[in-house]
Amino acid sequence: MLNQRLACGNCAACTRGEPNLCTRGGGFYGEDVAGGYAEYVIARASNAVHLPVGLSTQTAATLPCGVATGLHALHRAGLTAGETVLVTGANGGVGIHAVVLARLFGAAVIAVIRSAEVEDDVRAAGAAEVVVAPDGAFHRAVRAWAPDGVDVAIECVGTPTIAATLRSVRSGGRVAVVGNVDPSAADLGLGLVILKELSVLGSSHATPAELAEAVELVSSGRLAPVIARTFPLEQAAEAHAFAEHATATGRVVLRAV
Ligand SMILES: [Zn+2]
Repeated sequence: MLNQRLACGNCAACTRGEPNLCTRGGGFYGEDVAGGYAEYVIARASNAVHLPVGLSTQTAATLPCGVATGLHALHRAGLTAGETVLVTGANGGVGIHAVVLARLFGAAVIAVIRSAEVEDDVRAAGAAEVVVAPDGAFHRAVRAWAPDGVDVAIECVGTPTIAATLRSVRSGGRVAVVGNVDPSAADLGLGLVILKELSVLGSSHATPAELAEAVELVSSGRLAPVIARTFPLEQAAEAHAFAEHATATGRVVLRAV
């Protein structure tokens, strides 16, 4: 299995132990490096993570982006057991695994979704509370659940939800921004960042070590990746349409073989 971002192994970022920030390795599969939608791909051994026997390729396909990206965001935010965590876009491929992982790590999760259709899925993944907020207004509901605000937020949506997310976090809290579904500029509410001394942390992809951690969590039976739907490779266009328009929970998977 391949990590989603190629790392050179020699630059300052790689030397610091942050290969997910490497800019000399060649980039990101599917964006900077073409050829991912295929049965075979030429890859660097340094970018590969061992896939244990018994772990299916469909399950493995959810790990580099879906699971490991959520894991990296939780690491960035420094989530610890007993804390409260808000996850926006909680039914998405990254969001649902952030919910599962946060629960696994002993946190209490409040999840924000846009449609009640997926509420049961998000609760089943481990959310203690779910807020259905199609308009992105959810901070009062979060404050009703955590009156001082949540310790940590995993922002999987971006511009449409960041303002309410900043209002939902306690003073001194941490916000890991991992999603950017709408590239327009966001209302960052700098007054809130200053007065509440918020830590707003970008979270980009995951490291090979975190991918290996995701593999271990799955192969040991502690984490079951959530797959929204699997399509054969020849239906890639239908899979993209489904991912863009359907209300579903988890990662959409293309099956090459
Ligand atoms: Zn590098």
